[in-house]
Amino acid sequence: SPSILWLRRDLRRGDLPALGAAHDAARSDDGQGEVAAVFVLDPALWRSAGTVRRAWLAETLKATEAAYDGRLCIREGDPVKIVPALAAELGAGSVHVSRETTPAGRRRDRAVAAALDEAGVRWVETGTPYAVGPGTVTNGEGSEYKVFTPFSKAWRQHGWPGPATEPKGLRLASVSSEQQARTTLKKAREAKGLPDLPAAGEDAALERWAEFRDGALADYGKDRDRADLDGVSRMSPYLKIGAVHPRTMLADLHDGRRNLGQGADKFETELAWREFYADVLWRHPRSAWHDLRPALSGMEYADEDQAADLVDAWRQGRTGYPVVDAAMRQLLQEGWMHNRMRMVTASFLTKDLHVWWPVGARHFLDHLIDGDIASNNHGWQWVAGTGTDASPYFRVFNPITQGLRFDPEGNYVRRYVPELAHLRGPAVHEPWKHDDGYAHGYPEPVVDHADERREALRRYEAVRR
Ligand code: FAD
Repeated sequence: SPSILWLRRDLRRGDLPALGAAHDAARSDDGQGEVAAVFVLDPALWRSAGTVRRAWLAETLKATEAAYDGRLCIREGDPVKIVPALAAELGAGSVHVSRETTPAGRRRDRAVAAALDEAGVRWVETGTPYAVGPGTVTNGEGSEYKVFTPFSKAWRQHGWPGPATEPKGLRLASVSSEQQARTTLKKAREAKGLPDLPAAGEDAALERWAEFRDGALADYGKDRDRADLDGVSRMSPYLKIGAVHPRTMLADLHDGRRNLGQGADKFETELAWREFYADVLWRHPRSAWHDLRPALSGMEYADEDQAADLVDAWRQGRTGYPVVDAAMRQLLQEGWMHNRMRMVTASFLTKDLHVWWPVGARHFLDHLIDGDIASNNHGWQWVAGTGTDASPYFRVFNPITQGLRFDPEGNYVRRYVPELAHLRGPAVHEPWKHDDGYAHGYPEPVVDHADERREALRRYEAVRR
C-alpha cells in the first residue's frame, strides 16, 4: 500500500526527512512502495491569508508540482475530512508530515491524527520547518530560555543534522487533483493588483540563496540594517513556505571550504531568531495574539475608533514621517518590508500612535509575503515591549534619525514616496526644513514625535507604578 506525504509549509522535494520516512514506510508496508504527495487547500487558512500570500502559495504549488514530476495531488477542503478520505481512497497505511508547531497547525494535526487513528492509519511526524525543533532547546534545569542570547548559544550547541538526501528508488504515485482546487489556485495567481513576486519554488529558492551566499553575505554584518541597499537575503518568503529548509542554508554557512567570515555568523544569528520565536510560540501558544509578558498590563492604548484615521494614515503610508511612509508603501507595493523598517513602523504605531500591537501585526500578516505568526507577532511584541527581551519600553525609535542613519542618501524614501522625489540626498527625511518640501502634496506629520514620545513614556510610567 502507498504512504501519503502530506505537504504543508514544506513545499520542496530536497532536504525533506518526511519524504524519506514516507518512502521507507511504503517500502516496508509491502506492495508497490509508492509515495502519494498531497497538498490540501484548507479554506480556513486560505481565508486568513492576504492576496499576496495566496498568490505566493499558488505559484509555489505550481513549481512544487513540477518538482514532483507532475505528481502532486491537490485537494480543497477541511483536512480533517480530506486526509482520512484520501487515505481510504488509496488504501494508504500511513500519513507522513513535518511536525507543525503553530497553535492552529497543532490543533488541526491532532484532529487529523485522531481521525486517521480511528481508521487504523498511522500518523508519522518527521522533522519540523526548523533546524532544531521548537520545544527542544532547554537550559540546565530543563526549562525554556526566556531571552534570545542564551537561547541562541544553546541552540548552536545543540546543533542540527546535515541536509537530508532524497531516498533512493523513490516512486511517486499518480493521484488526481481536484478541479475546484486548481481553479482556486489559478484565480489567486491571476488576482488583480499583485506585486511582482519573486520566482517561486525550490530551484528558485536555491538560486537566490547561492546568489546571496556568494555575494552580499560577506558584507551582511555591515549592510543588513541599510534599507536602501540590497544587503539582505530576501529568503524569508522561501523559508516561510518551506521551499528551502534552514538546514540547507546552515550547512553552507558551516562549510569549512568556504571562508564566509563574519557575515555568515551574523546570518546564522538571524536564523536563530526565527527558531527562537517558533520556540516561544510552541511553549506559549497564547502569545500569538496576547501579550507574552504582563509588563504592560493596564497600559492605556488608543481607542480604536478614535485612532481610526491615524491608523489608516499609518497603513497607507501617509503619516508625514518619510521613512515610515516609504516602508508602509513598500509593504503595500511589494508585500515585503526591510527588517529595520519593520521595527521603525511598528514602533511608530505602538509608541507614537499608542495603538496596541495586534492591530499592526494583523495588517502586516494581511500584506507580507513572508507573513509568519511566530516571527511577525513576536517581532511586534518585541518592539511593543510586551515580548521576549523586550527592548526597554523607553527606547522609542525616532523616525527621523532612523531614516538618516539607515537610508543616509534618502534613496529608499525617494523610491517609494514620489511626492518627495524632488528633494536631494538626506533632505527627504526632513521636508519641513525645505521651502519646497510640501510642493508635491506630501502630508504634514500627523503627530509630533517629541510630544508622542513623552506621552508614551507617561503612559509607561503610569503602569509601572
Ligand atoms: P535576512 O536579514 O536576510 O535574514 C535571513 C533570515 O533570518 C530571514 O529570512 C528570517 O527567516 C530570519 N530572520 C531575520 N531576522 C529575523 C527576526 N528579527 N525575527 C525572526 N526571523 C528573522 N519575518 C518573517 O519571516 N515573517 C514575518 O511575518 C515577520 N514579521 C516581522 C514583524 C516585525 C514587526 C519585525 C520587527 C520583524 C519581522 N520579521 C518577520 C523578521 C524579519 O524582519 C524578516 O525575517 C526579514 O526582514 C526578512 O527578510 P530577509 O529574508 O531578507 O532577512
